[in-house]
Amino acid sequence: MTYVIIGTSAAGLAGAETLRRLDPKARITLISDESHLPYSRPLLTYLLGRETTREKLFLRSLDYFREWGFETLLGTPVTRVDPGAHEVHLADGRALPYDRLLIASGAKPRLPPIPGLELSGVFTLRHLADVERLERHLAHARRVAVVGAGAVGLKAADALAHRGLAVDLLARGAQPLSKVLDQVSARLLMEAIARLGISLHLNSWPTAVVGNGGRVTAMALNDGRELPTDAVLFSVGVAPRVEFLAGTTLAAPEGIPVDEHLQTGDPDIFAAGDCVLPRHLLTGAPAAFHIWPAAVAQGEVAGANLAGAARRYDGILPMNSISLRGCRIITGGHLTPDTPEGEIFEELDATTGRFKRLVFDQGRLVGATLVGEVRHAGIYFRLIANRTPVKDLPVDPRSPHFHPGRLWARPLPGAA
Ligand SMILES: Cc1cc2nc3c(=O)[nH]c(=O)nc-3n(C[C@H](O)[C@H](O)[C@H](O)COP(=O)(O)OP(=O)(O)OC[C@H]3O[C@@H](n4cnc5c(N)ncnc54)[C@H](O)[C@@H]3O)c2cc1C
Repeated sequence: MTYVIIGTSAAGLAGAETLRRLDPKARITLISDESHLPYSRPLLTYLLGRETTREKLFLRSLDYFREWGFETLLGTPVTRVDPGAHEVHLADGRALPYDRLLIASGAKPRLPPIPGLELSGVFTLRHLADVERLERHLAHARRVAVVGAGAVGLKAADALAHRGLAVDLLARGAQPLSKVLDQVSARLLMEAIARLGISLHLNSWPTAVVGNGGRVTAMALNDGRELPTDAVLFSVGVAPRVEFLAGTTLAAPEGIPVDEHLQTGDPDIFAAGDCVLPRHLLTGAPAAFHIWPAAVAQGEVAGANLAGAARRYDGILPMNSISLRGCRIITGGHLTPDTPEGEIFEELDATTGRFKRLVFDQGRLVGATLVGEVRHAGIYFRLIANRTPVKDLPVDPRSPHFHPGRLWARPLPGAA
């Protein structure tokens, strides 16, 4: 069999390795439009903040591709997929035939439709090349504005402040991550942002980027203010990278629709990672949610199914890990219960700033937020994902005698 995989990141590599294990003789070609070896996207902000080195970013070496028997085309954009002819067309004019195709093309940053985006000093952060461009500009910058206080915007603001830059952070809502965080966690987060010396502007968004001589000098804001700045980093969400599917019926604006086997509308094409629109694990509703572990999990399922395994992907459990210097927050599942019988349990240690918030509904844990002490987040998320009835646990999670660490030792009730 001949397989082609578009993407050499979290989903693409997980897919390729799973496929290789199941089909040792397969011909597998991996394609990326990036010329770098695969690297960790989550570490990009740490590179920007000089908290890690470029070398530590890379996940695989050149030898890796040879050892796994992958043919690899780096720096090679895919321009078109022709499902009828079973061909992937490349920017250099070649057409690669496939029996089965995995699309793991990820996502690209969105930009708001405002004037001034063409100015020098306007950035997004998705690729290693973005950090390299930003680095060159920051050599002459003192002040940077980050637009968007989601997980990536927060990490980027922290990194820039760590470099000694004056950072303005714009949040569109009345608190950062308003769809994800309750008020107490948001307050603890905002206190941490203030301690880092970052100026947080709530209910704020730009109406234009303002420049002089082709370079950014300020941002015009919704409330009429003009915020002086030397650079603007937009972090206002992502859109799936599916341009090369134009003319097919495979793509949709929120992501490639897939079934529970991550199969697209074409039986020979599977998709995984940030480019797909998966289902919410708890509700079954479409949930565009973009995190590295989900991309890996989907890649593994899709890779197995390319080889004919018929493995199911149960859905994504939305999760956010917010990691600033001096503040760790992990949150996952539902923010509030769905039914009136649901209950929210909160425990705040005002001295240490540690906070635990558990959301229960219909006898099960359905959401968890941990601030400060996040070591056992994985246990809470397993209880949520496995839909473990609270009554089956040795100790109720609301009890002071509940120690999540003790559950590691035993298979969780309800685990598959
Ligand atoms: C700055 C930053 C920080 C983040 N931090 C975290 C974090 O802390 N925790 C977390 O869980 N997640 C984090 N994420 C999100 C995480 O990185 C993504 O969910 C993950 O990278 C998705 O993997 P993927 O394989 O689906 O897509 P991507 O990583 O986007 O990779 C897509 C691949 O497809 C290739 N490709 C796309 N289009 C084409 C084309 N036309 N031709 C050829 N190749 C193409 C690309 O070159 C790339 O190899 C962060 C993201 C960013 C940008």
